Amino acid sequence: MVDPILQLMELPFVRDYLQRVGGDNAIQVMRLMVEHGNAVTDEEIAQEMRVKVTVVRAVFNRLNFWGIIDYDKTRDEETGWYTYTWHIVPEKIKEAVEKELQEREEELRKKRQELDQFMFFVCPEGHTREPFEVAAEYSFKCPICGKDLVPLDADAEKRKIDEQLDEIWRARKLLNEIVTDAEEVVEELPEHEIDDALQTAEENSEKENTE
Ligand SMILES: [Zn+2]
Repeated sequence: MVDPILQLMELPFVRDYLQRVGGDNAIQVMRLMVEHGNAVTDEEIAQEMRVKVTVVRAVFNRLNFWGIIDYDKTRDEETGWYTYTWHIVPEKIKEAVEKELQEREEELRKKRQELDQFMFFVCPEGHTREPFEVAAEYSFKCPICGKDLVPLDADAEKRKIDEQLDEIWRARKLLNEIVTDAEEVVEELPEHEIDDALQTAEENSEKENTE
């Protein structure tokens, strides 16, 4: 099965997001990290990408700033040099993408609602998109190029929005497939410790409820 993180990175808006936070090379770097079993040095990635190691380090630093990747430091006893191996942090990428999804979903639903509520007019050249009242103030001429504004095809717009909402749904499904370290730890705990942990969680939620 293809790693869900790799699949996630195929989705256009996840790509956009990762490129925004990690720079243009972020996707390629992260893909190589996954392919290397998530324990990789900057030199290894730089070699495969045939770029300077500073290029990879810049991506690492940016992604690390957002917590999406992290490193382990080990010291070579003979040379005294430190080696940094980097890995993706699954819980962080889940968290970050979910936040991105929520914002995007909200925006799309709002847009979809507006299409039901208002009639929009657009410039055929894509300069402007205005509700009826504003378009009327412009005498239905584009304020930028002067061309006649035309009514927006709301159904086509809605179909586009629905496709994007479907993409969000697919992304959520993939997010659920990403196993985080936290989940693995819980599974490895002996049963009585899981019971204890659950009980503590229950007690805490009861406390919250009574407060
Ligand atoms: Zn125009």
